[in-house]
Amino acid sequence: MHDILNYSLADFFFNDNKNVLKPPSDFTEWMSDPRVQHGYSFFEQQLLAAPKVSTEILSNLDNKKRSIINLTSYNYLGLSTHPEVIQAAKEGLDQYGLGASGAPLLSGTFDLHVKFARMLADFKQKEDCILYSSGFGGNVGAIQGLMRKGDVLILDEKCHKSLIDGGTLAQTKMLFFDHNDVNSLALMLEKSKDKRVMVVVEGVYSMDGDLVDLPNIVKVCQEYDAPIYIDEAHSTLMFGENGRGVAEHFDLEEEVGISFGTLSKSFGGVGGFICSNADTIRYLKGYSSPWNFSCAPSPPVVAGLIKALEVATRDSSLRDRLWSNTAYLKKHLLDMKLDLGKTESQVIPIIIGPSGEKLMGFAEQMQKRGLFLQPVDFPAVPAHARRFRMSVSSQLTQEEMDRTLNIIEDVVVKGLRS
Ligand code: PMP
Repeated sequence: MHDILNYSLADFFFNDNKNVLKPPSDFTEWMSDPRVQHGYSFFEQQLLAAPKVSTEILSNLDNKKRSIINLTSYNYLGLSTHPEVIQAAKEGLDQYGLGASGAPLLSGTFDLHVKFARMLADFKQKEDCILYSSGFGGNVGAIQGLMRKGDVLILDEKCHKSLIDGGTLAQTKMLFFDHNDVNSLALMLEKSKDKRVMVVVEGVYSMDGDLVDLPNIVKVCQEYDAPIYIDEAHSTLMFGENGRGVAEHFDLEEEVGISFGTLSKSFGGVGGFICSNADTIRYLKGYSSPWNFSCAPSPPVVAGLIKALEVATRDSSLRDRLWSNTAYLKKHLLDMKLDLGKTESQVIPIIIGPSGEKLMGFAEQMQKRGLFLQPVDFPAVPAHARRFRMSVSSQLTQEEMDRTLNIIEDVVVKGLRS
């Protein structure tokens, strides 16, 4: 192996070892290099308290407990730790116990699941809703449940792995159009004219924080009569006048046939859901394996989620604060001349460039100063655009935002100049 730092996980996918339990020999060599281990020490760090903005981690850097400002969790609206949500989950735990103890079709459906699915369908203004135990499972399950071998799934090239894995499981042909590029999409729709197709986009793209160009994508899809599937993982409860997501933001909800949301981000719990017309949901329930063959969501979590939906939708205060915090941070980061890509949301990338050493060096210094910002490295993002990804929270105080900006200025801005 030449320079170990030129390698990444992208290089070890194929394994020539006959024994599948043995990774490629150079993978083990790569992983045990101290420089690679140092890079990995930024991942799987243990949170010792709730995923609030001010919390505590057990740092992998020196095995010490550290109080930090956490801008890495997806607890965008603070609902994971909202007192009313916690109280509702506690009551759910007392009444229903910990687990559902069964798949939804057989013994896992509780009154809580029915109530919550109805609430979500009404909230999203769709006829019906199906709940999954994980967001990832929801995307995989919905695509696998609807698409068949010989069908064509046309995805934005920046779509999440769960959407791609759904296509793989369904054995569909997958085509990827250039990010948000309607001409590239039109070309693929033209090529697939005589096939059953579905077009997949995200409301907010999770590595860049930019929005789907839904108005133009809808136009092209209508020309080809192609249904649209939107993943609103990073936009539900935040975008649109009523928080229904990016489709509401563009006033194009009816044009989107199927809408996915996760319950692990702004909702503060865990799970996923699909809202669509009643026939589609009925059909999905017949064929969607992660729904049919997996335990239903944990009842106390659902009890908490019902309250989370109530709290987030009874007024706009949480999302108003999210957007004013986002605007404040963005303005000051731009004043520092940092490259924030094309973000239009609460997901703010701070693009460092091609140097993995700089990225990890900044991550270490920031953590030692008390700021937990997760580095995102190749292959999750292009090698020339390694970055930090800041997840803004409505719970950030002025003092926490100013402290964050000071640390970024001292570490990243000065470090990029040197
Ligand atoms: N879709 C997108 C766009 C995501 O970013 C994620 C999670 N990062 C998921 C789906 C999967 O959701 P979950 O983590 O709730 O399983």
